[in-house]
Amino acid sequence: MDSIFMKIIRREIPATIEYEDDEVIAIKDINPVAPVHILIIPKKFIPTVNDASEADAALLGKMILTAKKIAAEKGIAEDGYRLVMNVGKDGGQTVFHIHLHLIGGKKLAFETA
Ligand code: AMP
Repeated sequence: MDSIFMKIIRREIPATIEYEDDEVIAIKDINPVAPVHILIIPKKFIPTVNDASEADAALLGKMILTAKKIAAEKGIAEDGYRLVMNVGKDGGQTVFHIHLHLIGGKKLAFETA
């Protein structure tokens, strides 16, 4: 299976890479909703959270810890930020390769929809 994020991982399409290691890549969102908007993406292709298994537990945790590290680097850790994973069409997921949104750099309104 493939996704636009797999193409970014393979360097077939460009992106602004903020962090990368063997397991995850973090890129600037192309359509940011806040001054800091970064996507933390596993290199393993998992379409949605519904497709994740127990074997992916460490990888999912790694995504959160990577977001924490980037938030600190961006200087937004103390003021706070939001971590979001959209799941499926009703959850607003548009790219079917799981990713964690790191959003911050301003006071965020509480939104459920
Ligand atoms: P979601 O709606 O949760 O699936 O989020 C997908 C996100 O990916 C959106 O915020 C898009 O702006 C972002 N996005 C889509 N294509 C790209 C791309 N080529 N580079 C960076 N971000 C992208």
